[in-house]
Amino acid sequence: MKGITIIIPAYNEAESLDKLVDRLDEVTHNISGYMFTYLFINDGSTDNTLELLQEKAENHPRVSYLDLSRNFGKETAMLAGLDYASDEAVIILDADLQHPPEIIEEMIKYWEQGYEDVYAVREKKEDEDGVKNFFSKTYYKFVQKITSEQVYPSAGDFRLLDRKCVMALRELRENERYMKGMYGWIGFHKKEISYKEEPRFAGETKFDFSELFKLAINGITSYSTVPLRMWSYIGFFTSLISFLFLAYEIGKTILFGSNSAGYPTLLAAILFLGGIQLISLGVMGEYLGRVFIETKGRPAYFIREKHIKTKKEVHHE
Ligand code: UDP
Ligand code: MG
Repeated sequence: MKGITIIIPAYNEAESLDKLVDRLDEVTHNISGYMFTYLFINDGSTDNTLELLQEKAENHPRVSYLDLSRNFGKETAMLAGLDYASDEAVIILDADLQHPPEIIEEMIKYWEQGYEDVYAVREKKEDEDGVKNFFSKTYYKFVQKITSEQVYPSAGDFRLLDRKCVMALRELRENERYMKGMYGWIGFHKKEISYKEEPRFAGETKFDFSELFKLAINGITSYSTVPLRMWSYIGFFTSLISFLFLAYEIGKTILFGSNSAGYPTLLAAILFLGGIQLISLGVMGEYLGRVFIETKGRPAYFIREKHIKTKKEVHHE
């Protein structure tokens, strides 16, 4: 029998866990021929998520968990899940019930047809936040322009991955992670399906504006060196324009003489170039920072405690 691990990163999700496990049970009991494991990754929760997981792992045959030593962020929590999943396929799912487990059956159907990465795309909601939507759309258009890999904008982490994809993702060990880009980068046969996002079951989103901004910058700097190169072009054009302007000024002075000290233009030019230099320094800093973090070669996470069930244990439910 084929095994499927459902990977669930959880950060302060105590309120949703019972309901989530119930829904997963409901769905997976109706899919015969597969052995399901729910692998929770407690990402340094400060509520009683861990206690609940420990209790569930004792009483529920399908529940396994990893307890990370602190909050490492969702991207890293997912990597930990991939590292410890030993089944033929994994499904990554949010703990807050925004990803309806009901479409798992459809995912498996396509997996059996030979697709290695079946990803779920969120259907558009009518009451969606217009501003957020606009920014996210523009952002992905921009990322797509400057990176060579295919980015799938509305596809998130909700997906089924074949063992081959899991092994590939395990090899991408950078610490500043951007999984959305990685799924595209590794390749393999992809299939898109769609789902309706549900409202969060309990608690609040863990991604505020600054978290999203960090992720957005990661998305660009992980996959593209265009922001680094861009400054050579801008520098070249700025110099060219300054040179033409200078030639024009000299010519004008020779022909007609000059009666102004010219300090406003000087000031403008200095400020303009100063600004560009600061921005380009910032861009260098962004990349240098990444190089710095990656050269330390630290492990992506640490595990305090784990309870991973063997296939036998799961089978004996
Ligand atoms: N999450 C995590 N670590 C974090 C932040 C979030 O493991 O540092 C988990 C969270 O518990 C949830 C999933 O990532 O299962 C998605 O988080 P959330 O629902 O807050 O994000 P949103 O749906 O608002 O994008
Ligand atoms: Mg959510």
